[in-house]
Amino acid sequence: MKFLPSVRFAQKMDREDPLRKFRSYFLIPGSNNKSLIYFSGNSLGLQPKSTRKFIAGELDDWATLGVEGHVNARRPWIRYHHFTKKALARLVGAKRGEVVAMNQLSVNLHLMLVSFYRPTKERYKIIMEEGAFSSDQYAIETHLKFRGMDPSDALVEIKPRQGEYSLRTVDILDVIRQHASGLALILFGGVQYYTGQYFDIEEITKAGHQAGSLVGFDLAHAVGNVPLSLHKDEVDFAVWCSYKYLNSGPGGIAGVFVHEKHGKNLNTPRFAGWWGNDEKERFEMKKGFRPAEGADGWQLSNVPVLQAAAHMAALEVFQNTGMSALRKKSNLLTGYLEFLLRSFDPAKKYFLIITPEYPDRGCQLSLLIRKNGETVFKGLSNAGVIADWREPDVIRVAPTPLYNTFLEVYRFVEIFKEQFQHR
Ligand SMILES: *Cc1c(COP(=O)(O)O)cnc(C)c1O
Repeated sequence: MKFLPSVRFAQKMDREDPLRKFRSYFLIPGSNNKSLIYFSGNSLGLQPKSTRKFIAGELDDWATLGVEGHVNARRPWIRYHHFTKKALARLVGAKRGEVVAMNQLSVNLHLMLVSFYRPTKERYKIIMEEGAFSSDQYAIETHLKFRGMDPSDALVEIKPRQGEYSLRTVDILDVIRQHASGLALILFGGVQYYTGQYFDIEEITKAGHQAGSLVGFDLAHAVGNVPLSLHKDEVDFAVWCSYKYLNSGPGGIAGVFVHEKHGKNLNTPRFAGWWGNDEKERFEMKKGFRPAEGADGWQLSNVPVLQAAAHMAALEVFQNTGMSALRKKSNLLTGYLEFLLRSFDPAKKYFLIITPEYPDRGCQLSLLIRKNGETVFKGLSNAGVIADWREPDVIRVAPTPLYNTFLEVYRFVEIFKEQFQHR
């Protein structure tokens, strides 16, 4: 695609965009006559217009049915976790039995670590990327300490080479091989939250398995952003949240993937609650936990229906398109952003794009601002851009293919340029 730096070109791209109708499915922040340029779908995705109706439906059923809603609601509450499976399985490339929506991401990560971090005297090391999201670091740190281990011995963090910002796959695979004999678990981001790097899930998983390790991914920034094929790639487990690219609302219900080879093995150790018990006898309240087959067997509590209703509304939008169409537009949209930014500052005097090039990224670009980054960020905010600031010097911008436009990308770069004019 030959990009041009003009309003007319951006408008033409929008007119010819096969996904253009999806913007109208969302509520775009801003006042009536001036919408904001919302490039923070990687932090909190926008609200689908249908969300209110889905939640109101459950409130109505609760009002008219009370407890009977568990069975008699239009979408019976005791079966609610089944209703999101089809869409989730499609988004992450899994079988329906391998996914379930439940809890929040960090909670789920702990549950997965209970099951899949099973250190022995010889095999106890964990490999992660350096600078992983704080919650993931804390989860790992406390699992190690809980088991009486020393994180400085057991945890191996992979860093980029000197002067680089992202990890090379060859280096990741090398570290895995080096630690092969002592490795228990690899936990990696799918898309790194800070740099936006999209890791090679298939290669990392394969190398991990060859080393005799289990391999899990935190897909917070990957799900709904990049294509995933967790089943085929034989990933052991994965976790994600639903309020970023999945647009399911602040604090929305999260999700897990457990590969069927573990899900079908009812002896896989876990922490249990009644909702993970075999559904057929859940209400018999018998002694002795008998896990349901598949990811369902990791559920603890009954489903938070209002959050799950918002999740369903958002997933329905994805069911009307697919990750390959979204990926195609995402590449163009973020590619256009990259093109305009590079044309503005070819010598990289003002800023550096630390996100790798397509295909090793999703829609986010992380811009390392060389001087007074926070002032630049404030200037953007004052001009109606919603992006995000990450200490010490990075602005993350994420034009999302479901609701952002090429014209917004063009306008954003015009505003961005202005921030450097009087320096
Ligand atoms: C957003 C995000 C989280 C957030 O965790 P919650 O439990 O949803 O608060 C965790 N890990 C990563 C990598 C994230 O990007």
